[in-house]
Amino acid sequence: MNITKLEQKYEGKAKKVFATSDPSFYIVEYKDDATAFNGLKKGTISGKGIINNKMSNLMFQLLEKNGVKTHFVEQLNDRETLVKAVSIVPLEIIIRNVAAGSFSKRYGVPEGTALKCPTLEFSLKNDELNDPLINDSHIIALGVATEKELAEISALAYKVNEVLKEFFAGIGVKLIDFKIEAGRLPDGSIVLADEISPDTCRFWDAKTNEKLDKDRFRRDMGGVEQAYQEMFRRITNV
Ligand code: UDP
Repeated sequence: MNITKLEQKYEGKAKKVFATSDPSFYIVEYKDDATAFNGLKKGTISGKGIINNKMSNLMFQLLEKNGVKTHFVEQLNDRETLVKAVSIVPLEIIIRNVAAGSFSKRYGVPEGTALKCPTLEFSLKNDELNDPLINDSHIIALGVATEKELAEISALAYKVNEVLKEFFAGIGVKLIDFKIEAGRLPDGSIVLADEISPDTCRFWDAKTNEKLDKDRFRRDMGGVEQAYQEMFRRITNV
């Protein structure tokens, strides 16, 4: 495809988004910057941008094969990917299989407790408000998404979980929980957007429960780069 990169549209905590010569596409560039606790903790994870770009693209291709529509078009190089231009629905869509993180704190459930079924929750994407939890009726009442969109988003999230859980089990990794984002295409349809990486998922080694994700950075556990590399190694050795 003969598409040139134009002006930067947006800079997030881990990625930059650029306009292109074709208004139907954006270019996403993955950075090594890492933040946690809504930007209070800042750092760099060397090589993270390359791993997250490649891993996310592999996951999006796997999901497409399994019938999930995504914004993925084509990986351009180590850090850059061509994606369909979408408007992001301002929700963090979180699925959990095992209690961890904020869920464990909120409900007083020890980390690692298996849940009887996967759970779905939403946070409103708003840094000033610290991404507050939001329920379905609030989402609809505030016009964040329509009832129909919300039904599509929920089905999409559960489907992503089924595909990913099985894939990661096959490489000796438990998918504890993850966050995804959804985007609207110009025709109004909903597609999976953003990324799927150790920044946005909790991955535990199936045998040892060793953490192979961004919690190593959040919790100053060391071995951060190694954990990202280990996830990438397992995924690409499939
Ligand atoms: N998550 C994310 N971005 C956020 C918040 C959470 O990608 O801004 C991911 C996080 O990596 C984890 C899942 O969503 O895989 C659930 O996170 P949780 O609500 O437990 O929040 P945390 O404990 O990370 O604050």
